[in-house]
Amino acid sequence: MIYTKALKNNIFSLISTCAEELNLECYVIGGFVRDYIIKKSIPKDIDIVVVGDGIEFANYVSKKIKNTPKVTIFKTYGTAMFRFNDLEIEFVGARKESYNKESRNPMVVTGTLEDDQNRRDFTINSMAFSLNKKNYGALVDPFNGLKDIENKLIKTPLNPEITYNDDPLRMLRAIRFATKLNFKIDNSSLKSIDSLSSRIKIITEERIVVELNKILLTNKPSIGFILLEKCGLLKYILPEITSLKGVDEIEGQTHKDNFYHTLEVLDNICKQTNDLWLRWAALLHDIGKAPTKRFSKKVGWTFHGHEFEGSKMVYHLFKRLKLPLNDKMKYVQKLVFMSSRPIVLAQDIVTDSAVRRLVFDAGNYVDDLMTLCEADITTKNEKKFIKYHNNFKMVRNKIVEVEERDNIRNFQPPITGQEIMTTFKVKPSKVIGTLKEIIKEAILEGDIPNEYNAAYELMINEAKKLGLKK
Ligand code: ATP
Repeated sequence: MIYTKALKNNIFSLISTCAEELNLECYVIGGFVRDYIIKKSIPKDIDIVVVGDGIEFANYVSKKIKNTPKVTIFKTYGTAMFRFNDLEIEFVGARKESYNKESRNPMVVTGTLEDDQNRRDFTINSMAFSLNKKNYGALVDPFNGLKDIENKLIKTPLNPEITYNDDPLRMLRAIRFATKLNFKIDNSSLKSIDSLSSRIKIITEERIVVELNKILLTNKPSIGFILLEKCGLLKYILPEITSLKGVDEIEGQTHKDNFYHTLEVLDNICKQTNDLWLRWAALLHDIGKAPTKRFSKKVGWTFHGHEFEGSKMVYHLFKRLKLPLNDKMKYVQKLVFMSSRPIVLAQDIVTDSAVRRLVFDAGNYVDDLMTLCEADITTKNEKKFIKYHNNFKMVRNKIVEVEERDNIRNFQPPITGQEIMTTFKVKPSKVIGTLKEIIKEAILEGDIPNEYNAAYELMINEAKKLGLKK
């Protein structure tokens, strides 16, 4: 098969000419070929493999381009990269890898195209398009990746035991591609992953997180998380999520399986947002339920304080996985902490003051919190489903209303502590906090508008009661 249509961009003919001039074999390989064949669109990431020195070749090609793009060299990997318009082109010399038991890193020596294809993870990732003049655009597909694309199958080119043992990250990659492409993982691969799952422990958190994030960014991440759990990988990576699995029964009383519930929430939210951190929040929103689960004869199963517990767990989980401990973490923590608040609202009559309090507490995160809570409606009772969604619509409308009127988001007290101190000639003391709290409460309750004059009047009256004089 000839795929010249995929190689229309001038850069490919330029690379081809350069290869000819240097008398080198050269190919486009991996994700570009896979995604072009699957999606028929032209990917922006291009991996070039040259049978020779990849870095030298990248430099040679770049010099033939007007305004010579800057070549970035990754010495440890023996690769080089430059950008050409909106394309990112990475060059690598064909290599042969051999792993030995004692070392995590392979011995790398130069090799042929075939050697290079052998070292790749999956048949669908081993395909190459020739850039050589004699067979420009020809598909080089020694492991029949094309057939696996037709059959929607993730399969390793070589013995799966060896492939996964050599680099256990490939187990996660298999699941990531299965999730993203909606492919099945070949049975012998599944068996190997199952038996080798504990080997994931040797992989750095950074590499694991790359794959987890990619799974989270697919349309239906539940596929990936169910596979991770079934293959025994999830307990090593996210034990907090595995712990949510299962339904306990005492005296005929059960609770829902919070693992499958969580995945339903996650899939729901993916229809509403592409934001990675909001998706993380959905994945983690119930993690506090495992450690707080209790049973009592009177009330059955409870998870008291799971939101607070969960938000504390978010920090430890982020730290362990080397996820950023910055405002992203705080955002996820806050959403987990507040994850039940709007639900309580939606079950009841929605009052202005409850909405004001919600906006006050959630600040700028209030819209995302609403999105999370809407995704959290997984009841199979149609009447309840409609009722909760309608109530959430009302909450959303009220949020807009309250915002326009009361300016509660990022609330700034209309009377500052300084003003209280100068008005009543008092030094910093508890009474200032008390007055500020009274004013804030009155605004949130709707007793006074969020305005200076009303707040001033209330301050004077309340100060009198506390024995302060102007
Ligand atoms: P995407 O861009 O969607 O993440 P990709 O396949 O292009 O997919 P990369 O991680 O950039 O992803 O990998 C490029 C190519 O390198 C892959 O297609 C595959 O051939 C090879 N590859 C990447 N990681 C591994 C690995 N751990 N083991 C073997 N081959 C790998």
